[in-house]
Amino acid sequence: QSQELSEGRIDYHAALLALQEHGTRMVCTGKMHTDRICRFDYLCYCSEAEEFVFFYSNSSVMLPNLGPRRFQPALLDLSSVEDHNTQYFNFLELPAGALKFMPKPVFVPDVTLIMNRFNPDNLMHVFHDDLLPAFYTMKQYLDLDDEARLVFMEGWGEGPYFDLYRLLSGKQPLLKEQLKNFGKLMCFTKSYVGLSKMTTWYQYGFVQPQGPKANILVSGNEVRQFAKIMMERMNITGQEDTAKEGDGTEEEQEKEKREDYIVVFSRSTTRLILNEAELIMALAQEFQMRVLTVSLEEQSFASIVQVISGASMLFSMHGAQLVTALFLPRGAAVVELFPYAVNPEQYTPYKTLASLPGMDLQYVSWRNSMEENTVTHPERPWDQGGIVHLEKEEQERIQVSKDVPRHLCCRNPEWLYRIYQDTLVDIPSLLEVLKEGLKTRPSVKKNKAASTVHPGRVREPQCQTSVQATNEAKLTVSWQIPWNLKFLKVREVKYEVWIQEQGENTYMPYILPQLNYTFSENIKPFTTYLVWVRCIFNKSLLGPFADVLMCRT
Ligand code: UDP
Repeated sequence: QSQELSEGRIDYHAALLALQEHGTRMVCTGKMHTDRICRFDYLCYCSEAEEFVFFYSNSSVMLPNLGPRRFQPALLDLSSVEDHNTQYFNFLELPAGALKFMPKPVFVPDVTLIMNRFNPDNLMHVFHDDLLPAFYTMKQYLDLDDEARLVFMEGWGEGPYFDLYRLLSGKQPLLKEQLKNFGKLMCFTKSYVGLSKMTTWYQYGFVQPQGPKANILVSGNEVRQFAKIMMERMNITGQEDTAKEGDGTEEEQEKEKREDYIVVFSRSTTRLILNEAELIMALAQEFQMRVLTVSLEEQSFASIVQVISGASMLFSMHGAQLVTALFLPRGAAVVELFPYAVNPEQYTPYKTLASLPGMDLQYVSWRNSMEENTVTHPERPWDQGGIVHLEKEEQERIQVSKDVPRHLCCRNPEWLYRIYQDTLVDIPSLLEVLKEGLKTRPSVKKNKAASTVHPGRVREPQCQTSVQATNEAKLTVSWQIPWNLKFLKVREVKYEVWIQEQGENTYMPYILPQLNYTFSENIKPFTTYLVWVRCIFNKSLLGPFADVLMCRT
């Protein structure tokens, strides 16, 4: 392996000389350890010490140069989970001269992305914490291309979803465990350390109860582009391809006729739907659609994605498998089922995903509210919701509670007890929430995404004023359409005008369909008004305000 890595592709002697002379160079982005990604020349890793090493010399570079603040608490987060103290990255410093006394370094010629996977055993974590962040970190740095090498430093084995990580690049990812096979000292010619957090939408509740991230920066567009490329790399032909607006060739008509169907994502070991057959029959009858089941235990991940990518609805108990909703076609619905005493409002990783702007998915949750329909497992190990290890009183309290109180991650026994219940789904109450929650009948949308283009500024805003009488004045405001409107098909174009009397701290807002308006109510003579105008597309796409107008009556 070390041969593959270091021979033939770089001039060993030149690399060694460069390292000895120049040492390590580091330049980072980000002001804080939580938003930092660093690029290195000649970052080394000593497998004996299990430490990264920065060799300093007269020409080494370390930006930011934080001094001891590098340890407060760390240089950067190695995983996409923010500020988690098991995921910190740092390095040791050594003078480049120390190389003389060290084992001969093995050089890694590939451009390398060094990161931690957060929880590679859990599908939600795999996609949300690792695959999406790694995918978009690679988009951020052009030399992290198809040939890039990924190195996972969290120390876990491959895990059940390693094939998905393999899709990120053409090169086999390396695990921390494997690094020692390359020798005692390995040096990455070019590497990036850390992951972009730009695509994450959920925080798991380490410092405050879990919920959507405060400032979500990703839209459905980026999630869908990622999904599309992952599907291509899994050799899946998605609905995107069959949904092309066509001129109606026979083949396309055939695909148009393709039947709508429902998918039930089944879990086979924990958090079961106890009456799955009954549920499937009921859904088939209610929606007059075929119902397919998938489960991670029974088929390949790629075949599951193939099925989901053409589904109109996806039903599943709350759980990591629901992250596969990101492969649903636009217009589909996600229906998430929650066990007894678990409040769907407080556990929303999949609701948040489905609701990202531009995901174009509907989302409905159902909660078992009939205690007689739940099956608890008090005798299981604590991590599968067992509670027999707790004091009798605490066990009793948990067993009579009707709602898990808000809690932090990850070992709250009441939460685990409730979330690992099996459920007999009450069909009438489920159909009821579907009736209420589904705004339109879910179906695979043939058309493209709804436009998310925002208006530009309105142009040439002007005001004219006149005084009618000592207590009567008029203010006429006019403007031109935003420059980008003439290139767009927009369903509804409106303008918002704010009028504020100078010196007052409130303003009057108006929504108007036309390009000018004369205001006379509440307009006083000999007064200065500040006027802002902006354009709004389709009720919610707000443009910027034009420069404020000063209008004196
Ligand atoms: N899992 C599964 N079938 C089961 C139970 C779990 O495929 O019956 C998968 C699940 O999708 C996740 C992993 O095993 O990827 C861990 O499941 P767990 O219940 O611990 O986590 P959760 O689904 O609540 O996130």
